Amino acid sequence: MLLLGSHVSFRSSDQLVGSVKEALGYGANTFMFYTGAPQNTKRCEIKDDLTKEAIEILKENNIDIKNIVVHAPYIINLANNEKEESYKFAIEFLKQEIKRVEAFGVEKVVLHPGSYVKLDLDTGINNIINALNEVITPDQKVMICLETMAGKGTEVCFDMSHIKRIMDGVKYSDKLMVCLDTCHLSDAGYDMTLFDKFLDDFDKLIGIDKIGCVHVNDSKNPIGAHKDRHENIGYGYIGFDTLINIIYNDRLKDVPKILETPYVSIDGGKDRSYAPYKFEIEMIKNKKFNENLLDDIRNYYQ
Ligand code: FE
Ligand code: FE
Ligand code: ZN
Repeated sequence: MLLLGSHVSFRSSDQLVGSVKEALGYGANTFMFYTGAPQNTKRCEIKDDLTKEAIEILKENNIDIKNIVVHAPYIINLANNEKEESYKFAIEFLKQEIKRVEAFGVEKVVLHPGSYVKLDLDTGINNIINALNEVITPDQKVMICLETMAGKGTEVCFDMSHIKRIMDGVKYSDKLMVCLDTCHLSDAGYDMTLFDKFLDDFDKLIGIDKIGCVHVNDSKNPIGAHKDRHENIGYGYIGFDTLINIIYNDRLKDVPKILETPYVSIDGGKDRSYAPYKFEIEMIKNKKFNENLLDDIRNYYQ
């Protein structure tokens, strides 16, 4: 069965209940959320009664919580240890995040491995390995999915060999998986029109069974641009047919596919922009490109 969903919000007021309802409203059967704001590390107390209520709704809708994904905040940086305090904070935060995630029963956390900033690539990779060795315990249920990055600035893991080196260096690497992001892969220089070839190579290097999540995004920029700017499905340089091929690839059929495409603006400003996911999910299920998608979204919400 196709596992398809999107990034959804998580508010401190209704927590996972709100996230589940948002996902169901999009016609999704999986989703991804941040346990707070993606750009900061402030986190609220998880309320057990809300978690229970959310799990009930998931059951009623035949959604397996194992297919739901949490994204760690993207400001924690395990690659840079120039400021010892921030490096230690990042490690501590990730430990706590794993506990929070376990309390939900979620089993996958997507992590941006980090940027080496003023250090160098090898040092950055070593810092990530050392940090993960401090974070991961052999009995944890949660898998950490290292996200493939666009190679913007000094990001690590825009090349699959970086991921391989991290996996080789981490003691409990059975707790590591990979999150493929199609926009990032294309921006990093991998040709998404040759996705089966990419999977063959990935399988030899890391193992296809290590793919825990796919972020399905089009890209605003051509292959190799290293920009990391997501585009709506079929509206960017990767294109609809290529993304459909990836989404329906038989070798990834049990892997959740998560949309992180941009909100569509009604008035050109940020105040009135709306989630495209209900419409993109419908279009993907139909396997037919909708050239009026953006107008349909604007008309629906207006
Ligand atoms: Fe990400
Ligand atoms: Fe992503
Ligand atoms: Zn991105």
